[in-house]
Parts: sequence; C-alpha cells; structure tokens
Amino acid sequence: MATCDFCGREEPDEAATLTWTTATERGRRRVYCDTCSREHLRAMEGKLDSEWW
Ligand SMILES: [Zn+2]
Repeated sequence: MATCDFCGREEPDEAATLTWTTATERGRRRVYCDTCSREHLRAMEGKLDSEWW
C-alpha cells in the first residue's frame, strides 16, 4: 500500500508502485505516483530551463 504525497492517490497493488518515484527531502521520504512523477519531472526540467535564461 502506497500513497502519493502529491495528489494523495492510494495504490494497494505494490507491483503497480514500481513506476512510482521515491525521494528523500530533508530526511522525509516522499512518494510520487507515476502521473505526479511525470509532472514533477516536467517542473524540474522547467526550472532548469529558466535558469539558463
Ligand atoms: Zn500522485
């Protein structure tokens, strides 16, 4: 059972959470579902892009 820390989506199937992203932020474990991982990645890329300007 995993819960997305971003959208709050709950996934009872452990196998389905293999595509999820886990990250540690300031000592706290964060879990993001596949959808939010993609959104997160896009946001990070967007932030990276803006630093180039
Ligand atoms: Zn999510």
